[in-house]
Amino acid sequence: MNKQNFSSIVILTGAGISAESGIKTFRDQDGLWENHRIEEVATPEAFIANPDLVHLFYNARREQLFSEEVEHNKGHEAIATLIKEFKGDVTLVTQNVDDLHERAGRALNLPDGHVIHMHGELSKMRCKETQNVFTSEHSLDKNLRCPCCKRPGNLRPHIVWFGEMPFYLDKIYEALSKCELFISIGTSGNVYPASQFVSFTQEDCYRLEVNLAETTVSPLFHNRRIGKAGDTLPELIEDILKGHLFNLSRD
Ligand code: NAD
Repeated sequence: MNKQNFSSIVILTGAGISAESGIKTFRDQDGLWENHRIEEVATPEAFIANPDLVHLFYNARREQLFSEEVEHNKGHEAIATLIKEFKGDVTLVTQNVDDLHERAGRALNLPDGHVIHMHGELSKMRCKETQNVFTSEHSLDKNLRCPCCKRPGNLRPHIVWFGEMPFYLDKIYEALSKCELFISIGTSGNVYPASQFVSFTQEDCYRLEVNLAETTVSPLFHNRRIGKAGDTLPELIEDILKGHLFNLSRD
């Protein structure tokens, strides 16, 4: 073990942390996302070519997310506990568009703003013209009138599609450049630029990956916990909070 005390931590989460809540990860083995090719539903071109299909796809994701069957899990809870109890800085960046980090945080009275959603949020929509953002858990369709410009067809999901610029990158890179512990959880390392965040940490930053299996970026980490996030995170977070980082060694 090289380092026992961290004063700043960046956590990056991906679809894997929400898998135990019943939300499917990005690509199944057949290369499809919920039976769709990415190009059909998650690009600006797809929205121009077939807005009905894109709305249908995100409406279904939204409906599932806000159904009774989906709840945050022990992985989300462990991270919320760290944010609440850690004495230094914790920056939580998620690629997920669900609100399960917020739900876990609310149970501990954390404000919703503790989560940086770099790929947007399912619970929000945006005016294509003004870029104003609105919260809504309801379905969208191409005839819905925008609350700000009053035009039908101007509302789109507040989601970063492939080919678009993620949100809050300046803030994220600043936190990465200062952090002493970087933990990447449940992300495949296939989606740019989040896949490269580990390379933006300083040389002496301790880098830890939590995943079911090794990923393409695993060699860039000092150590890894292989297993489900909901199983591994409670113990890991407890270790960090107690300063008992005995299992953190540099490979
Ligand atoms: P990904 O689907 O490419 O990879 C998921 C990773 O999680 C895999 O490496 C897998 O081994 C791992 N994993 C699966 N179950 C796990 C578990 N229980 N514990 C720990 N790890 C587990 O996901 P990504 O890298 O986040 O990229 C997906 C993109 O798709 C993101 O841009 C995201 O916005 C979007 N997406 C979001 C959601 C969501 O909001 N929940 C769901 C699907 C896709």
